[in-house]
Amino acid sequence: MSTSLFELTDKVALITGGNGGIGFSIAKGLGQAGAKIIVAGRDHNKSSQATKKLADLGISAISVGVDVTQNDSVIKAFDETVDKFGRLDILVNNAGIAIRKMPQEYTLEEWNDVINTNLTGAHLCCQQAYRLMVESGGGKIINIGSMTSIFGSDWVSPYSASKGGIVQLTKSLAIAWANQNIQVNSILPGWIHTDLTETYKTTRIKRYLEIKERIPQGHWGEPDDMAGAAIFLSSYASDYVTGTSIIVDGGYSIN
Ligand code: NDP
Repeated sequence: MSTSLFELTDKVALITGGNGGIGFSIAKGLGQAGAKIIVAGRDHNKSSQATKKLADLGISAISVGVDVTQNDSVIKAFDETVDKFGRLDILVNNAGIAIRKMPQEYTLEEWNDVINTNLTGAHLCCQQAYRLMVESGGGKIINIGSMTSIFGSDWVSPYSASKGGIVQLTKSLAIAWANQNIQVNSILPGWIHTDLTETYKTTRIKRYLEIKERIPQGHWGEPDDMAGAAIFLSSYASDYVTGTSIIVDGGYSIN
């Protein structure tokens, strides 16, 4: 065991959707703890800018293109990771989308888009991570859930279904891969200022303020608020923690 519980020096971490929002903050946090970072996203420009910002902070980072809904693309991204860094120690399944409308209004294509990105995408990345982590004697997988992993929601039903699924996927993989020294856990963020939630501030201000009112800590979260839990779940400090979900929400879910 390392002398420092939260040290990630020489660990290699791939973060899907690491080019913005919560994923970028997690990439930065893991990088500042010493990890080498692979930013994996669809938008090449966003990913290049993200790796440049990480490099400016002295973090060793590359970007790889990936569409997590496409297995060929996922396999290629993990192969590129091995080509560049030789191993994979940490996977953060953060890529996610939301389509907001009432359940009766979704087309099948919209339903599939959300489930395929948020849940099937995580499954595909976990399969590739397993392949690499087994070779190197273990690893850490972090899946990003949501408040809708716990609660239902009238107008993001496929998103809720996918995020509920993330928690059950996490538990199942944790059991399956415990013997290979792979710990699998989730982070369930509360309400965080990112592109995904931007519309609340601009066009749904009443709802934005209602949410704020319910948060005991009195304000929405920032992407950087997710980094601490991610570092913990990536590090030696969590070696006996598997299959669980850490809620990072300023107290929203207990109020
Ligand atoms: P953003 O919209 O800022 O980030 C979403 C990321 O997902 C982008 O970087 C995007 O990359 C990536 N992505 C989307 N689809 C794909 C795909 N098919 N393949 C690869 N990457 C993809 O939102 P957040 O930072 O808010 O969201 C990050 C995660 O946190 C999501 O899983 C979200 O559900 C979750 N979350 C967010 C909360 C919040 O309040 N903001 C609350 C609870 C959970 P690209 O642009 O390159 O496509």
